[in-house]
Amino acid sequence: MKQEINLIVKPEFIKTYREGYPLISKESIVNWDKVSDEGVVLNLVDAKGKFILKGYHGIQNKGYGWALSRKKDEKIDANYFSKKIKSALEHRKEFFHDAQTTAFRVFNGEGDGVGGVTIDYFDGFYLLTWYSLGIYEFKTEILEALKNSVEYKGIYQKKRFDAKGKYLDEKDDFVCGEKADAPILVRENGVNFAIYLDDGAMVGVFLDQREVRKKIRDKYAQGKTVFNAFSYTGAFSVFAAVGGAKKTTSVDLAKRSLPKTKEQFSINGIDVQSQEIVVEDVFNYFKYALKKNLLFDLVVLDPPSFARSKKRTFSASKDYVNLLKEAIQITKKGGIIVASTNSANFSMMTFSDFIAKAFKELKGKYEVKERFSLPKDFRVLENFKEGNYLKVVFIKKLK
Ligand code: SAH
Repeated sequence: MKQEINLIVKPEFIKTYREGYPLISKESIVNWDKVSDEGVVLNLVDAKGKFILKGYHGIQNKGYGWALSRKKDEKIDANYFSKKIKSALEHRKEFFHDAQTTAFRVFNGEGDGVGGVTIDYFDGFYLLTWYSLGIYEFKTEILEALKNSVEYKGIYQKKRFDAKGKYLDEKDDFVCGEKADAPILVRENGVNFAIYLDDGAMVGVFLDQREVRKKIRDKYAQGKTVFNAFSYTGAFSVFAAVGGAKKTTSVDLAKRSLPKTKEQFSINGIDVQSQEIVVEDVFNYFKYALKKNLLFDLVVLDPPSFARSKKRTFSASKDYVNLLKEAIQITKKGGIIVASTNSANFSMMTFSDFIAKAFKELKGKYEVKERFSLPKDFRVLENFKEGNYLKVVFIKKLK
């Protein structure tokens, strides 16, 4: 049995919690000093002791715990997690029936009722990501629930415990079942991806960009020259190439991006020699492109929300306008910039302001063609808009 603690909510926060806000903050609690260990069950009550919600204590960049249940007598056990997982699976039913897409998210933290943990599906393998020690304390129950709810080849995990969500290298992320090949091949709308389930923090693809990649392939790539900045394994470049792009140029600072991008091209039958893959700081590449008067039809910008390199730090909330200004200058008139950010620190509205500001400062003109946020499998709560961190805007450069 997990230890349970009663916590009194300050009057001004009661309504928010009652309405379904899932994130528990220290500031909202009168007697937080009662809490110590992560993983304890928290019963939030009002000053008269009336029950509000049941949650758990887990420290993440976002807060100090997550709501789990609105039922006073609910036990937070394997049966509870089974119910959550089954409902999550139901929500992704059509994904399991789509032979063209074999990689997607099956459980999206608070969006599926349990903040702090996500589960991704990769062609029969399941990957659990734990975002706090607190939720990891429920590992036995959650694993049991998962095993009882799905047929699986194997289960893997990533621990991203500390406040910054940093990956803890355990040398072995395998949990149970069969071991996955390195790589396994999955499909996304008919395109192949090589996935490494046990090779560090990232597996090779960011699943939340699925709809954006599809749109680029189906509508924007044919015959175009494509510049993909912060390209990682080149997923956007691969979709552009499959969609008939004339040529793609992928730029990423990390050395690993070169072999990984080559691999993604070759498993899709694309001649790697006809594509350009550059290991370099994107900001240096912009300088080079400007000097050489390089212009592209389609420019994809998908930077990390925060990165520190030897020379500079990049923070999306501070530096996106400048990044856009660089991108605008190497985009042909009539060309498209796909501006993306996964920063939860600002809204779509603010992001739109960044775009307006960048064009204004360059005396340019633009038109927004498409907007995307998280796809259906990255389920978000109506009462927790911050959970919908992804913002992607397709911008046509008119001038
Ligand atoms: N767009 C990618 C995901 C980007 S992840 C995709 O669709 O899969 C962020 C990437 O930015 C990482 O691969 C990291 O190596 C790279 N990166 C961070 N700072 C960079 C910089 N200054 N120049 C080039 N790449 C950078």
